Amino acid sequence: MTETEAGRGVARRPPVIAPGATLGVLGSGQLGRMFTIAARRMGYRVHTFSPDEDTPTGQVADLEVTAPYDDLVALRAFARQVAVVTFEFENIPAQAVQAIGDLVPVRPSGAALHVTQQRGREKTFLAEHGFPTVPFAHARTLEALQDGVARIGLPVVVKTAAFGYDGKGQQKITRAADVEKAWVAAGGGEVVVERFVNLHAEISVIAARGLGGEVAEYAPFENRHSNHILDVTTTPAAIPAGPATAARDIARALLETLDYVGVLCVEFFVTTDGELFVNELAPRPHNSGHLTFDAAVTSQFEQQVRAICGLPLGSTALLRPAAAMANLLGDLWAEGEPNWAAACRYPDIKLHLYGKLKPRPGRKMGHLTATARTVAEAQEMVVSARDALLG
Ligand code: AMP
Repeated sequence: MTETEAGRGVARRPPVIAPGATLGVLGSGQLGRMFTIAARRMGYRVHTFSPDEDTPTGQVADLEVTAPYDDLVALRAFARQVAVVTFEFENIPAQAVQAIGDLVPVRPSGAALHVTQQRGREKTFLAEHGFPTVPFAHARTLEALQDGVARIGLPVVVKTAAFGYDGKGQQKITRAADVEKAWVAAGGGEVVVERFVNLHAEISVIAARGLGGEVAEYAPFENRHSNHILDVTTTPAAIPAGPATAARDIARALLETLDYVGVLCVEFFVTTDGELFVNELAPRPHNSGHLTFDAAVTSQFEQQVRAICGLPLGSTALLRPAAAMANLLGDLWAEGEPNWAAACRYPDIKLHLYGKLKPRPGRKMGHLTATARTVAEAQEMVVSARDALLG
């Protein structure tokens, strides 16, 4: 607590990591890049650590350290140069987080990371703490999977317990005869099986919790996927007020339960029956929140900086009534370089590219954001601008 604050009677203000300090980020993709841009704008320096070179984050950071995540010597050297470590990629070995945590604060904590690193563990945590999940079972053998399917009832989705990215490692089963096939296809390892629900919408709530325990969340984002990859996000989500409020309350409660410091994304299913279930958690900023960079007073990345540095959180309000984001996947490069000028001809469109050198099908290369008076207008604009890239 500073003297001025004490003089004003401000209670228990946590120590601030002030601008000018160096922040460490584990992982080097687009989330780290946007975190770094937000941090540098506020006068921080950023070091990034990952096994890769010339990365989206490294290109904009002060220092890019290239070493494997299990190189504890390199991790310790990295940690000694920074005031705090956060991550943009959660599949960091526990040992690595521990090695860093011995030297410097890690936010969010290794404990929160542990919960969200494995689907089975995460679902169990959610259920044990009373958060709504679709009925699920955890299976390590074919027999356990068959029992689980019998208990839950068909149709079900079988998912590998280790997180697969973007729907990889997932199978829908509608007939009991296909359970064994799904077990074999899942690699015979650990799986989570859950009831297949009819979706009205998929939404996410991105929330942040600061060092002093204050919480701020964005209104829900509505997410549409294509081939299991996020395609378009819009906000405000077109769902009734009931589930929208409930989703925000759940995100806030999760932050408290996890004693979390940083940014957390909670993905939800809203069913055609109006039920709300938590699908999964991401212990970091999320693709569905990219539109906050242009559309909100405080972006999810600035919020991450504020939270991990012990600064007060910023406003999550939108600058215009509605916004939309469309992902730009490597597929757009199939016929050569996209027509950037055509998309930029839309004056309300913002172009983000992540500096990735090789466009591959399905690879997230960038995104477009539109802000507008209505969701329909924002969505129409962002999709038209993306179509124009191929013109
Ligand atoms: P996940 O990897 O769990 O996020 O699942 C990827 C996508 O598969 C989700 O965004 C949904 O569109 C769909 N999905 C996953 N689980 C279910 C379920 N239990 N019922 C219906 N659709 C699901």
